[in-house]
Amino acid sequence: MNYQTDFDSILRWIGSLCRSYEVIAPKKETNGDIFYSVIESSDEVCLDFSGTPINTPKDFIYENYKTLLRWDLAGDKAVIEAPEEEPKKRIIFLRNCDIKAIRLLDGWFEKDIADEDYKKLRENLILVTIGCHTIGPFCFCSTFGVDPIEKENYTLQLIKTETGYILQAKDPGLTLPQRLEAVSYRPKELKTEILDLGCSNNIADFEQNAQIYDEITKRCQLCDGCTFLCPTCTCYDIADHGDETKGERVRLWDSCLFSSFTKMAKGYDPEPTFAHAWSRRLSCKLVMSDRSCIGCGRCDMTCPAGIGMKSILMLTQHKERK
Ligand code: SF4
Ligand code: SF4
Repeated sequence: MNYQTDFDSILRWIGSLCRSYEVIAPKKETNGDIFYSVIESSDEVCLDFSGTPINTPKDFIYENYKTLLRWDLAGDKAVIEAPEEEPKKRIIFLRNCDIKAIRLLDGWFEKDIADEDYKKLRENLILVTIGCHTIGPFCFCSTFGVDPIEKENYTLQLIKTETGYILQAKDPGLTLPQRLEAVSYRPKELKTEILDLGCSNNIADFEQNAQIYDEITKRCQLCDGCTFLCPTCTCYDIADHGDETKGERVRLWDSCLFSSFTKMAKGYDPEPTFAHAWSRRLSCKLVMSDRSCIGCGRCDMTCPAGIGMKSILMLTQHKERK
């Protein structure tokens, strides 16, 4: 069903949701940056912005620096325990590209041997799409088949219009806002720039793309902003902190660009150069069958060297057309 309502009614609804759920929504910081944050009241929510928040939903379902187990062998009784928390019921208001990112994470963390923590967090998380009404400067999600306003695959979607909001609901399992008026509604066609993915088919081959790899490896500062802010980067490392008496084992986000990423015992590295690392990253994001870029543009937004995924795709297009 499609409903029309006004902004006040949406805010009152979000306020009432805060009483029963942990609500995660875009929030404007004092410097104007937008972050997905846990909000306490509807005053904190910002629904009117272009592009994506700076951080990603993975912060809330696949956290960095997660304690897997603790040990304390100092007392009479040795304690080795895995911390267990009952997941809260949560709702997240997020962009459609980030929903595609979550679906990719679901595929990776829930297939084969499921990550039980992830599974529990997801089972308790309701997704509400915030349809885009304008396109952000870095967005290119339509390249990967994402619609800035979801056409079908939503449970609840909010779309800002000239006069208020459209709320689209399909059996959401949530109380809806008051003051809804049923309307017929067809979302406007909104697309981001669509880049030619075909031009990057052989991008993993760094010998054939020597010029592009020269450019990338010369520019990249290895700051790792692109992988940590990518909603679909999931590589992690496990480290023990403390000593044999007391400490904890943690899971930390890792990056495929780090020089130690593929290093094995005795120092052997099957992918010894920076170009190898970049070739793997580009293959994972742009070429593999479950290619993991969703075109959110965060890597371009953060990269100090101007080589986010959109810029790299533009380089490949330019090379093909020369
Ligand atoms: S953000 Fe840019 S400079 Fe930093 S690691 Fe990624 S590509 Fe390299
Ligand atoms: S590679 Fe860049 S554009 Fe693609 S999903 Fe990751 S952060 Fe977004």
